[in-house]
Amino acid sequence: MVLSQQQNSKKQDEQLVALPVVQVIQEADEVRTFRLDNSEGLFPLHKPGMFVKIRLNISGAKVWRSFSISSSPLHPEKIDLTIKRNSHGQVGNYCFEHIRPGTLVHLKGPLGQFYFDQEQHLEPLVLLCAGIGITPMMSIVRYLNDLNQNRLCYLFYGARTHRNIIFDEETRQLITQMPGFNYFLTLSQPTPHWLGYCGYLNYEFMVSKIPQVTTSRFFLCGPRGFNQEFEEQLLEAGVPQALIHSEQFHKKRKPQ
Ligand SMILES: Cc1cc2nc3c(=O)[nH]c(=O)nc-3n(C[C@H](O)[C@H](O)[C@H](O)COP(=O)(O)OP(=O)(O)OC[C@H]3O[C@@H](n4cnc5c(N)ncnc54)[C@H](O)[C@@H]3O)c2cc1C
Repeated sequence: MVLSQQQNSKKQDEQLVALPVVQVIQEADEVRTFRLDNSEGLFPLHKPGMFVKIRLNISGAKVWRSFSISSSPLHPEKIDLTIKRNSHGQVGNYCFEHIRPGTLVHLKGPLGQFYFDQEQHLEPLVLLCAGIGITPMMSIVRYLNDLNQNRLCYLFYGARTHRNIIFDEETRQLITQMPGFNYFLTLSQPTPHWLGYCGYLNYEFMVSKIPQVTTSRFFLCGPRGFNQEFEEQLLEAGVPQALIHSEQFHKKRKPQ
């Protein structure tokens, strides 16, 4: 059955829930978390890594965008959306300028096939991300911490400068709470006083830090070239496709 644009829009609207913003957290330069109050359980339970679609009304037009949930499913009373503002972007700018505590956000979901399933995914986890691609990974890491299971998990995160690092304090805290958790941060444009890893995150660096490649499970979320390169190298190394999950934030958008 082919739906007209109007029918399609009506169908999408029917699936929406409205949640109020309870808190806005400045995470890094141009990155904020918008915490939505789901204490009434209106939004269904998600799996860590999944995303929502939000609908905004901007200058009389309905605009939809996808955002990964960065909070843990074991805290279903809140839904955190961590959003990066792009100077030329429509929705990121709108959120920063207009969304405040008390604003109602219309969203639907949870959506997507990019998620960690704790019953099915028993291999060591390797989370590879760059920039704002850390958001679904953070949901996975927070979930592992909430589960209180000593799972082997390696988070590799590439950021541009120290001002762009998201969730750093919490992630470092989690290292002390989760014995199986390992965190590797690398900056592509570090300042001279930076003592950590430098350069773009790459395959050789990742391989040097994990015990096994072919038997690990990989989650990738970064710019297009980032995902593609890691995926190609992992496949070449003999990692089965079924152990590689990839999320792409900047796909070609369907006309609205
Ligand atoms: C499954 C999924 C999950 C997502 N999760 C998140 C999330 O957790 N946090 C988040 O901030 N965004 C996330 N996104 C991206 C988000 O949906 C928007 O695309 C993004 O916020 C830009 O929207 P905008 O309206 O501000 O910019 P637009 O007006 O759509 O973009 C303006 C121009 O800038 C380009 N552009 C915008 N941002 C970038 C960028 N970062 N890199 C390269 N080009 C860019 C666009 O392609 C376009 O050419 C996700 C996308 C998907 C598909």
